[in-house]
Amino acid sequence: MKVGKQLNWEEEINAELYRLEEISQKRHLITTRFAEQPWLMINGRKMLNLASNNYLGYAGDERLKKSMIEAVNTYGAGATASRLIVGNHPLYEKAETALVNWKKAEAGIIINNGYTANLGIISALLRRDDFVFSDKLNHASIVDGAVLSRAKHQRYRHHDLNHLEALLKKAPTEKRKLIVTDTIFSMDGDLAHLKEIVVLKERYNAILMIDEAHASGIYGKNGEGYAHHLNLQNKVDIQMGTFSKALGSFGAYVVGKKWLIDYLTNRMRGFIYSTALPPAILGAAKAAIEIVQEEPERRTLLQTHAEYFRESLMDYGFNICGSQSQIVPIIIGENEKTMKFAGCLQKEGIAAIPVRPPTVPENEGRIRFTVTAVHVKQDLDWAIKKIALVGKEMGVIG
Ligand SMILES: *Cc1c(COP(=O)(O)O)cnc(C)c1O
Repeated sequence: MKVGKQLNWEEEINAELYRLEEISQKRHLITTRFAEQPWLMINGRKMLNLASNNYLGYAGDERLKKSMIEAVNTYGAGATASRLIVGNHPLYEKAETALVNWKKAEAGIIINNGYTANLGIISALLRRDDFVFSDKLNHASIVDGAVLSRAKHQRYRHHDLNHLEALLKKAPTEKRKLIVTDTIFSMDGDLAHLKEIVVLKERYNAILMIDEAHASGIYGKNGEGYAHHLNLQNKVDIQMGTFSKALGSFGAYVVGKKWLIDYLTNRMRGFIYSTALPPAILGAAKAAIEIVQEEPERRTLLQTHAEYFRESLMDYGFNICGSQSQIVPIIIGENEKTMKFAGCLQKEGIAAIPVRPPTVPENEGRIRFTVTAVHVKQDLDWAIKKIALVGKEMGVIG
């Protein structure tokens, strides 16, 4: 590249793409078939699916599919408008009633997806110069919501509640303060220290919001989420979660006090200025809420599989980053090595997904495995052996 000459935007963008390729951070879209099943297909090759968020297997469930088809036949293909115009078709009320009964909350609404839910909730709730306190490993949608709100964005070190408290102490008492945390962290698979966070929330008169994207359907007696598992649901002001992971389809929800939901309905821009969900999605959400409560055995089986997978990889000497859930990363290190590791596993027939910066910190490249209730133990055993073999070959384990 010529020195001294100002690049135009086209040259700048192509230089940026070139740089991403050079540091092994360039992403590519790959067509994937059967990702709703334990074995998927990429480029005509069958691979064990240890990469989906379909934790309970509902993405391929006949009952969900049937209720989607019925919804289409009854209510049509599209939503026709935003919910506040004429897009609020009858299935919304049915699905939201099911949601509120399931969560035993005062009120709740369904939002188009988790990303816009987090953007919308945080930016509706906080004003310029308010404060948001966010775990450093929270999901990107929380980070973006904080930025959009123009509140002061204070990120505390992962799980470091002394750090959180020090930051809370410094914030002026008259400012609105929101503490927000994932309950299961999406890249490390560990659990928020929710009990201790509730103590701080009360001590500093803050608002508490949790993101149950990876815990909805999995924790709690009826799959309500991790807050219910700890019986802390009444201490949490805003419970957000999604239908797009364990619940098998698409969309998000938020539950809380009636006035809070009323406020969000009036103030969330992503809710007001975006078309309602198609009826089929609401059909799936409603079916999933009902089914997930009736099938605790899937949750149990998922926990059993997850624990077995974690313990086995740890026994081989892998660093699983403190995982306590169905999300089980193994740390590899540099980008290039992480990519190579993933490539080896794919050659062996495992759909291993490398996760690199900026999604995770520099030099903490990892393979992020997810197990589901619909995997069978022999397949997990087979995968664990292959992972260990590649780990030894590449010097990741001894
Ligand atoms: C997946 C995810 C989201 C986004 O949800 P979508 O419905 O996929 O937009 C938000 N928060 C967390 C923690 C997630 O893992």
